[in-house]
Amino acid sequence: MSESANANVKAYIDALYRWNEDEALARVLASIRERGMPEISVPPGYGRLITLLAAASGASAALEIGALGGYSGICILRGLRPDGVLISLELKAEYAELARANVAAAGFGGRAEYRVGEALARLPELAEEGKTFDFIFIDADKENYPKYLDWALKLARPGAIIAADNTLLRGRVAEEGDAAGAPSVSAMREFNARMAADPRLVSVLLPAYDGLTVARVMP
Ligand code: SAH
Ligand code: MG
Repeated sequence: MSESANANVKAYIDALYRWNEDEALARVLASIRERGMPEISVPPGYGRLITLLAAASGASAALEIGALGGYSGICILRGLRPDGVLISLELKAEYAELARANVAAAGFGGRAEYRVGEALARLPELAEEGKTFDFIFIDADKENYPKYLDWALKLARPGAIIAADNTLLRGRVAEEGDAAGAPSVSAMREFNARMAADPRLVSVLLPAYDGLTVARVMP
């Protein structure tokens, strides 16, 4: 598609779905902007897809790696069973605090738990506690995606959904030359190759926005 056709299609879809009328998610985006935080919440179509996947799979225990302002957290919680819970791992205390507030304002206050620090330090704790999950969303530092996949496979219940955002790295995963040497690019290539080929998974890499890879851990 040409750039103008792309813009037309985006406007068309925005008008169909009226994402900006979603008060809880609009509040998240506004709070991120006010604080000068990075404006990298999952795009609205993928937020909706995450809700849909969590709901379609009947998930009740979700794990998120990378909370930011709580946008994807709200999308996940909307899809979980009524008693479903989210554990979200976030490096920065002030981001986790904002996400907690936004998730509470969206009506999910009692059902989300934020754990602060390096996700790779928190993940072994979840395993020690015997926690398992039926929906896992990976959306933190890109260099660690292969390690996050190892943990996702360890913590996944049979039939779990694993979804990961930004798996195209704005096209850099497909470029030759310098970009290929960047640690995030080689890590993402490894992650994508494993998601595609692991015999325990059925997966697809969706090329819209910045790429979302979705997999089911086959029971
Ligand atoms: N999932 C969010 C967006 C996450 S942006 C949404 O769509 O709403 C990526 C987040 O990962 C940032 O909040 C960043 O602070 C966090 N992050 C980066 N490195 C991390 C690490 N090593 N451990 C845990 N969180 C990390
Ligand atoms: Mg992302």
